[in-house]
Amino acid sequence: MSTQTVLKDRISKIVGEENLSTSLVDLAICSRDLWLPYFFNIVDRKLWKLPDVVVWPETTEQISEIIKLANEIKVPVITLGGGAGVCGGISPTRGGIIIDMKRMNKIIEIDDKSLTVRTQTGIIGMELEEELNKHGYTLGHYPLSIYSSTIGGFLACRSAGVLSNKYGKIEDMVLGIQVVLPTGEIIETKPVPRSATGPNLTQLFVGSEGVLGIITEATLRIHELPEERIYISYRLKSVHEGLEAIRKIFRCGVRPAIVRLYDEYDTKLTLRSLGLPAEGCLLILSFEGNSKLVKVEKEITENICEKEFKAENLGEKPAKHWWIHRHDQYWMLPTLLMGKMIVDTMEVAATWNKLEKLYFEIRKVFEKYRVTAMAHFSHFYQEGGSIYFTFLKSKEKGKPIEQIYWYIWKDAMETCLKIGGAISHHHGIGLLKGAWLPKYYGNAYKVLANIKRILDPNNILNPGKLGFGGMDEARKIF
Ligand SMILES: Cc1cc2nc3c(=O)[nH]c(=O)nc-3n(C[C@H](O)[C@H](O)[C@H](O)COP(=O)(O)OP(=O)(O)OC[C@H]3O[C@@H](n4cnc5c(N)ncnc54)[C@H](O)[C@@H]3O)c2cc1C
Repeated sequence: MSTQTVLKDRISKIVGEENLSTSLVDLAICSRDLWLPYFFNIVDRKLWKLPDVVVWPETTEQISEIIKLANEIKVPVITLGGGAGVCGGISPTRGGIIIDMKRMNKIIEIDDKSLTVRTQTGIIGMELEEELNKHGYTLGHYPLSIYSSTIGGFLACRSAGVLSNKYGKIEDMVLGIQVVLPTGEIIETKPVPRSATGPNLTQLFVGSEGVLGIITEATLRIHELPEERIYISYRLKSVHEGLEAIRKIFRCGVRPAIVRLYDEYDTKLTLRSLGLPAEGCLLILSFEGNSKLVKVEKEITENICEKEFKAENLGEKPAKHWWIHRHDQYWMLPTLLMGKMIVDTMEVAATWNKLEKLYFEIRKVFEKYRVTAMAHFSHFYQEGGSIYFTFLKSKEKGKPIEQIYWYIWKDAMETCLKIGGAISHHHGIGLLKGAWLPKYYGNAYKVLANIKRILDPNNILNPGKLGFGGMDEARKIF
């Protein structure tokens, strides 16, 4: 009997025949995310490595049984959230079982007193947010993929929403989780506000990209809906001036919700579309929460931007316009161009003393390969921030586009490592950045490798990701 037949037979006994599929369409749709090389394949009419079966469980216990079965017959298990990752995190490069989490979408409890929500993790971000809004709450997590990604995917990749400056990244929102280990055992970490109980095991699984466990439930911190949200926009002379102004704002303890500084290239595109002179660097900000507090935060920010940095006040329009239209741009560009040319994004992070250097050095990489690139800086901390590059390059005669793609990533990642930045701020590693993760960790990577070996002796969960397969694994999808 083929592996597929065995899996079909045994898994249907766990979840019921109607909750699994071996149809080519389901296998193809559920075995990819939005990583660019898939689009190269689509344009070339090539199919990627498929799994044997896709399963839609509804309970943690079913997931546990499936994983025990996978250990028995030694096949990989890959967790699919929304499939909106951009790094090849769900690619079943060695076949096996895809566990699609989307039926694990129940909200278990909203605790009004503690301001927490307990939810299954297959729920789409916006569905959770809308339910919270009905009760007068917000998670405060608004990534641009909120309509297409799950809470589990956010947790597995350490996602950042556009209001992260105020509410934090997803790892700052999680109190406790339920996890199915690679052996099928179910564990829980306690949802407490803080603890001094040894290492933080919740955070071991957060960011582990389906390699160390499947996160099935999470308790997350929530907030009362803001009384007021106000916007303000500025034009600064340069990236340097813009970053200095933001550094000052954060040093004062002010925490705007949105902070987006566009470099000269991104500013041109953004301000032109608003009919404003496309010069300098656009900075958009919003403040939200208690009305009195946000007015004070805005006043301090105005003082810094206008008095110290002589920034031109552009009023609320550019910021408000961005907030209202923030989802519009994202589907047009990829649909039209992806696969026919390189259209990708790169998000890195560094402390203030390295951030500007990191920006200019990665720009040099793009210039070397004659790549059109623009950037914005949108997630900040008292100690530094992140840079988000969008880059495009059309095909060149005689040079395979996949090869140029890898050269660009290689040079950019090595540049980031040399400067001492983080090779990802919120998209994660997947297959795309796996080759550079061991270099990023140095000899500490051994610790991660040992944890993986001990938790997953049969290498069942998402094999080859988080750097455990290097570049060879990444090339398997072509
Ligand atoms: C248009 C667009 C905009 C985006 N904007 C943002 C943004 O603003 N901020 C941001 O952070 N990211 C953004 N992303 C990237 C992406 O949405 C995030 O990486 C997100 O965290 C992926 O979640 P998902 O549910 O889609 O996960 P998937 O793509 O399904 O999976 C991603 C990884 O997580 C693992 N995984 C999924 N669920 C679980 C689970 N329950 N337990 C264990 N492992 C699991 C998978 O195996 C895989 O390795 C954007 C992507 C797109 C396409």
